[in-house]
Amino acid sequence: MSDTVERHEFGAEVGRLLDLVVHALYSDREIFLRELVANAADATDRRRFEALTDPALMAPEGARLRIVPDKAARTLTISDSGIGMSKADLVQHLGTIARSGTAAFAKTLADAPAADKPSLIGQFGVGFYSAFMVAERVEVTSRRAGAEEAWLWASEGRGDYTLAPAERAEAGTDIVLHMKPDAEEFLEPIRLQTIIRKWADHITIPITVTKDGV
Ligand code: ADP
Ligand code: MG
Repeated sequence: MSDTVERHEFGAEVGRLLDLVVHALYSDREIFLRELVANAADATDRRRFEALTDPALMAPEGARLRIVPDKAARTLTISDSGIGMSKADLVQHLGTIARSGTAAFAKTLADAPAADKPSLIGQFGVGFYSAFMVAERVEVTSRRAGAEEAWLWASEGRGDYTLAPAERAEAGTDIVLHMKPDAEEFLEPIRLQTIIRKWADHITIPITVTKDGV
């Protein structure tokens, strides 16, 4: 590992939430895509909003969300041209639980009888960490709008993550999910389209699902 790679521990509550999300929601794990698409759409809205007062932040290629399955590599990539994250944003937003909603979810989920857990998903956004339901490793490459540098956040969801300098031509975020062997169904374009229609019908920015390997 290069000496520019920094290793960080997750906040204690992140480990607990990861455990809950990954184990309690197994039968509903398709919602990871709803969560990642929602985050990408939020980031796109935020960029558009910030560009109102600072036109330099406008996305040159317009709002776009791309979902790229690659069966040969067993990866699913979700790319957006949204606001992006700085290094500090990555540490704060993907390394700790700052939001009361997630803490409330963790508590409610922990206290609920097993049969009630799936229905709780609809009531709480489970967020970014739901990626670990389907992925054994998650890599986030992000460049904040207005910044020159990009950063790579990577984790196997087991207590720590790494941060390293990266390259990205434009502002925005790529989330690369290295899928678990039993989650290959989420590399089928048709399956992805169905999940998007079911959970992300209200998203107004164009979502493209590419054919495998294209
Ligand atoms: P929530 O969306 O409820 O805030 P999440 O766990 O889904 O919780 O995401 C945590 C935070 O990480 C977001 O609030 C946002 O600041 C940041 N984030 C996640 N995905 C992206 C993305 N694609 N682009 C920019 N920021 C993101
Ligand atoms: Mg979210």
